Order: sequence, then C-alpha cells, then structure tokens
Amino acid sequence: QTLFNNIEQLPPDALFGIRQRLAQDSRAVKVDLGIGAYRDDNGKPWVLPSVRSAEQLIQQDPNYNHEYLGINGLPELAAGAARIIFGENSNALNEGRVVSVQSLSGTGALHLAAKFLSTFLAGRPLYISEPTWANHKSIFQSQGIKTVPYPYWQASTKSLDLDGFLESIKDAPSGSVVLLHACAHNPTGLDPAEKQWPAILEAIASKNHIALFDSAYQGFASGSLDRDAFAIRLGVEKLAKVSPVFVCQSFAKNVGMYGERVGCFHVVIPQQDDSTVDISKVNKAIASQLSKITRSEVSNPPAYGAKIVSKILNTPELTEQWHKDMITMSSRITKMRHELREKLVQLNTPGNWDHIVDQCGMFSYTGLTPEMVKRLEAQHAVYMDASGRASIPGLNQGNVEHVAKAIDEVVR
Ligand code: PMP
Repeated sequence: QTLFNNIEQLPPDALFGIRQRLAQDSRAVKVDLGIGAYRDDNGKPWVLPSVRSAEQLIQQDPNYNHEYLGINGLPELAAGAARIIFGENSNALNEGRVVSVQSLSGTGALHLAAKFLSTFLAGRPLYISEPTWANHKSIFQSQGIKTVPYPYWQASTKSLDLDGFLESIKDAPSGSVVLLHACAHNPTGLDPAEKQWPAILEAIASKNHIALFDSAYQGFASGSLDRDAFAIRLGVEKLAKVSPVFVCQSFAKNVGMYGERVGCFHVVIPQQDDSTVDISKVNKAIASQLSKITRSEVSNPPAYGAKIVSKILNTPELTEQWHKDMITMSSRITKMRHELREKLVQLNTPGNWDHIVDQCGMFSYTGLTPEMVKRLEAQHAVYMDASGRASIPGLNQGNVEHVAKAIDEVVR
C-alpha cells in the first residue's frame, strides 16, 4: 500500500483553476476573463446559428446514426478544412501535396504533429514564441521534443521583437521546427504585420526549417477566413520547394465547438525536383502513418462535431451563415476592446491602453503584473490569467465599467 504514497500532487491547471475559484465565489458581480471562450453580450456561451441549422439538417437525415468514423475521420471534413485553410486555388492542394486528417481538436492536431516529428524527424528542436500557449511546451516535451523559446513579445514597447525573432530563426540549427501562430497569437493578441511575414518565412526557408502553423482562431480574429490564413498561405508558397509545412487546425473557437473536439492536421509535402517521386504514394504513406498513431490512441476521432462542421463547410447557405457568425463574434470582441480602452482613458488610469485595441483575437496581454491580477480577483472578483492575459469576450455592456474601475484601482 506504499506504492502511491510518494506521488506528488500537482497544482491545478492555471485556467481550469480559475474556473473552479469562480464557481466558488459568491460575490454578486464576478467577471471571467480567464479561459478563452466566446461569450455573448449576456455573458453566456453562444451556439452559432450556422451550427443550429447544421444540427437540424443532420438529425433530419433518415440515415442519421452514431456509428464510428474511419480512423482518419470524416473525409469531407478534412477536405473542406483544407480548402478554407489553404484557399480554393492552392497549388499545394491542386498538386495533391496535402495530407489532411481529422484530429481531436487543435490539441490533438498538435499531438499528431509531435508524434509524427518524434517518429520521422527525431532530434530536431521545436522553436516556440516567448511567451506562447502554455500547452505547446507540454504537448511537444511529452513526446521527447526539445523546445527552445524565440523572442517575440517585447514587454517594454508591447510590440513584436522582430529582430530578435529573425535572429533566433537564423541561429537555429538547420532543419529545426518553428511553431508559428497563424493568427490571433495566444497569449499576446499580437501578430506580425502582413508586411513582416515575408522576412520571417524567408528566414525559415533559408535554414531549411520546417514551419508548424497552429491555427486555432481562423476567422475569429478578423472575421475573414482569408485574412486570417494569410501567413499560412504565404508560408506554403515560400516553402514549397524547401521543406514540409505542418498545419494544426482547430474549430473550437471559429465554430464554437469547444467541447466537441473538432480539428484537422495537415502535412504539406514539398515539391519534388526528382520526377520519379510519386507524390500520391508519399501522400498515402503519410496518411497511413497518421492513421497508425490515431488508431493506437483514440481509435477514431469523435463524429458528432465533425458532421456539423463538415455540413457547414460543404453547404453554401450554411457557409454563408457561418461567415456572418464569425463577424458577429469578432466585431463584438473589437467593440469591447474599444469600450474598455475608452473607459480607462476616461478614468485617467495611469499608463497607455492603446494596446488593448491594437491587439486582436480572443486575448489582450494587458501588461498587468501578477500582483495586480491577484488584487483584481481578491478585491473586485475579476478573474484573469496571472500573466495579465485577459479573455476579451468575457467583457460585456453589463460588466465593462466594473472591470475598467477595477483595473484603475489596482494600477494606482
Ligand atoms: N492552440 C492555441 C494557440 C490555442 O489557443 C488553443 C486553444 N486554447 C489550441 C491550440 C487548441 O485548442 P483545442 O484543442 O480546444 O482546439
């Protein structure tokens, strides 16, 4: 009976810990700016109208059932997902150079990437932005991949340290893997400008590095799928003759399918000079290896959410409604960014708050210190990550004033 007595109890996951404390907080006004999930103006989770319509269509189908999907998931989902991420006119897609499989949301896609890398490209370090989504480190380290931070957020200016970023890419051993946030960088909300991406991707190409894009917010950041896929599409083009590109795609945020775990993993095979190489054979080989990984871990991915997202991607009227839904979400977030900043300016809160409106996507990296964040929670029942990362959709007309006053109080 001593076998388990020395197991160390770990602290709760930071964000799920916030959720727990919030549930136990009995104060009348409490604000959740912790976990990254969209809320409507009443602070409630939002089921997208396009999702409701897709659900009805699926359930009306006389063949509706809950059978297993294939090991690599729903082919129509993967094909539709590839179309939106790479674009209708993608050379890589037209040339059959993309392997696309369904995954257990974005996290599952990252895990497939990690497994695939550790199996076929072992020993290459993974470069991750400083800071990045905390789970990146855990997912890749758990597969024995060494992670190395690259400079990204310059705290003094609340802007991108492009020079440090480029230098780090150039100094990395050839053939390293560079993890890039496709858009709406988590946690900073700060993306490279479109005119900065060519230099980043050229630096990656110059060292034969592999780009691994994490796309968890396509369409959620700007309201436009095309705009939010800019970096990925440019990367696929610039690296076409150089090295593979990996894309980990989540539908958690842009379709609001958080708990249904819908995602895809894509491997873009580089163009080959050697005309004897049969791309379709390479494509099938990679798909079979991904299938082997999935089979041993989850057997096959979840079906319900995949059917909904596939229906949206493959039914023109639903696709159109979905585009409107993404604009509804992204524009409410933008509006709340402006309201929060305006209120802080009105209160004469010390400091400059322009970054709140300059940043994009789910989060704002507010610049509040861990002590201030602690006080926000203790004195004002405003909850956010200790890093000062605030999930903006947690703001609404009913609580933005409370939050502004709370921030004002803690920074003074
Ligand atoms: N990558 C990033 C940068 C994220 O912010 C998230 C969600 N927090 C994910 C991946 C994966 O999310 P999920 O597994 O829910 O799709």
